[in-house]
Amino acid sequence: MAHSSAAPTSLATVYGYPRQGQDRELKKAIEGYWAGRAGADELRATAAGLRRTAWRDLADAGIGEVPCGDFSLYDHVLDTTVMVGAIPERHRAAFEADPLDGYFAMARGTREVTPLEMTKWFDTNYHYLVPELGPDTVFAADPAKPVGEFQEALTLGYDARPVLVGPVTYLLLAKPAPGVDPGFDPVTLLDRLLPVYADVLARLRAAGAEWVQLDEPALVQDQPPAVLDAVARAYRELGTLTRRPKLLVASYFDQLGAALPVLAAAPVDGLALDFTGPAAANLDGLARVGGLSGRRLVAGVVDGRNVWINDLERSLSTLATLLGLAGRVDVAASCSLLHVPLDVAVESEIEPEIAAWLAFARQKAAEVATLAQGLARGTNVIAGALAGNRAALAARKTSAITCDQVVRARAAAVTVRETRRAQPYAERVADQRARLDLPVLPTTTIGSFPQTDELRAARADLLAGRIDEAAYDERIAAEIREVIAFQEKTGLDVLVHGEPERNDMVQYFAERLTGYVATRHGWVQSYGTRYVRPPILAGDVSRPAPMTVRWTTYAQSQTSRPVKGMLTGPVTMLAWSFVRDDQPIADTARQVALALRDEVVDLEAAGAAVIQVDEPALRETLPLRAAARPAYLEWATEAFRLTTAGVRPQTQIHTHMCYAEFGEILAAIDALDVDVISLEAARSHMRVAHELAEAGYPRQVGPGVYDIHSPRVPGTEELVSLLREGLAAIPLERLWANPDCGLKTRGRQEVHDSLRNLVEAARLIRAEAT
Ligand SMILES: [Zn+2]
Repeated sequence: MAHSSAAPTSLATVYGYPRQGQDRELKKAIEGYWAGRAGADELRATAAGLRRTAWRDLADAGIGEVPCGDFSLYDHVLDTTVMVGAIPERHRAAFEADPLDGYFAMARGTREVTPLEMTKWFDTNYHYLVPELGPDTVFAADPAKPVGEFQEALTLGYDARPVLVGPVTYLLLAKPAPGVDPGFDPVTLLDRLLPVYADVLARLRAAGAEWVQLDEPALVQDQPPAVLDAVARAYRELGTLTRRPKLLVASYFDQLGAALPVLAAAPVDGLALDFTGPAAANLDGLARVGGLSGRRLVAGVVDGRNVWINDLERSLSTLATLLGLAGRVDVAASCSLLHVPLDVAVESEIEPEIAAWLAFARQKAAEVATLAQGLARGTNVIAGALAGNRAALAARKTSAITCDQVVRARAAAVTVRETRRAQPYAERVADQRARLDLPVLPTTTIGSFPQTDELRAARADLLAGRIDEAAYDERIAAEIREVIAFQEKTGLDVLVHGEPERNDMVQYFAERLTGYVATRHGWVQSYGTRYVRPPILAGDVSRPAPMTVRWTTYAQSQTSRPVKGMLTGPVTMLAWSFVRDDQPIADTARQVALALRDEVVDLEAAGAAVIQVDEPALRETLPLRAAARPAYLEWATEAFRLTTAGVRPQTQIHTHMCYAEFGEILAAIDALDVDVISLEAARSHMRVAHELAEAGYPRQVGPGVYDIHSPRVPGTEELVSLLREGLAAIPLERLWANPDCGLKTRGRQEVHDSLRNLVEAARLIRAEAT
């Protein structure tokens, strides 16, 4: 690689690091504080210790400029809400009485006040707390956290760069506060918010910060001209402040598109851009605007969202191109490393062959440092790392794990015929009616029943070797018998086995499919103190043996009513895992679909007349840019149909989705060609049923009438009235009565009472209609 002696030294940096610590110390400390086992000082000391460890980790890996302020006790968007003083009215008294307890009250609610709403951080599996703003919102700077954490890093001797959520993204993440006109646009508050940012920036400068990073990931979504104008105004104002640090505006998760020329023209000192995956288009975008002429470019070339080793030579070639487009090019991960587990080195149970392909946060930081070194001093200095990387990539490419010829041949041979059911819905529905012999307005549940303490204890006992497989299986069988007996006695029409054997709807299947690997310590923050361990889809996928047939068949043997077979769909199996990056995702989806298809066919052969394939992730996986959505929906719906279309016409296929807003995916929902769809609808008063009806959706629909997110038991009258609302949209012969979602997190008694009321409500509606 050419190495210009005029080029300044390239620095290695990242935007954020996992917060939890090696053994999730943060979770334990916060939950201990909530439970009253530890005081605030103890929690603060643990948090400071974790920050210290994270900075030391990064410095040890060779990161020259470490981030600060990215740490959070719960969520960085909530931290921003505190920083700008946008405390909701209902939380103000608690916050003023005790900022720490007030902070947690906003996050989790209390007996008296509801928390802020939580939603997904762009298309990741991290959830943030949604700011609530209105025309009366008064902002006031509270720079204590960003300044305090910067000073901490400074005292420890680090060259640290505070990282803040940028003002435009903050407003775009917000929603109108309760009681405010739902049409209120938070971006109209920009002029009020900017002085607060100016204040925080000045305080950081006074504390000694040379650079401050402002994250604007919302700009990688399609934004209207008004938002682009707001961006221009925001950075003109912040960029021309007299007392300010140098400003680095960061974006990630996709390309900036139309926002790139706006930011490039703003008087800021540098941009941090993502150059991985679809965001690689930023390279052309940057060339089109003529580069950053003399300013700083931070190039995110190491994917911060997946768990795979970087292709170092490819990244170096991207970096070499970028050298001509900026005054100084630094190297980074594409986004905060918050989205990956901490350290692959502790995963002693992953086969060494696969472990050699993996990079978690610690390894990614080292890759970034290696690339920066290669860029600054020439590739000779990193020759050893390059050779090792080349060998690992070559081994991955030819491994039997990534190249199972049987799986590949089968996936390549899939034809359109296999993705279509033998008969169209309008014809097969009569066969299903004859076979199932259900009443009108059939009642069912979504799948899971309450996971009791006894079940959790049984799983722990099995893991610890206190009971053997046979004893564990007997506990599962006993639970299934009880769940079936309850449903029969209550009078539900289509039963479920309750899923007592399943730890998690993705992990359970991942553990049984070839091609997936599990981690032991690979925790990733989902929200607050909740962490998940996504499985890693590393190789070609196949199903060595049936996964669910045994318990479904056992449940069916306990009753003459139909028991639903229950599976997680291919899109969700990918969305909640780390998916291989060495082949198109559509190819991976097809392999998973074929494995699940085998399970569907086996369930049918074992006697299941109803099979439900859940796709809660179908909508959340929608690409951030509209232009990429048709291709996504194409492979996603194909994978779902490939999973389900292998059954006979008289077998009824259900799906379930956990949300009420379908908007642009309505056509895709129809393209799934299911017989019955159940959805979340109780809290939105059946709005989704009306939307489906307006779109001409021709199939059976179960809009949820029992809100399972609340411990409240809905009364029969309330359920009757919701069913009537459903009937206003969906005719009786196509309507089902069911809860909003699975019952796993609810208490047993409230579930029993609620389902009794549900069955009674359906009976009353039926009686009314005949
Ligand atoms: Zn659900």
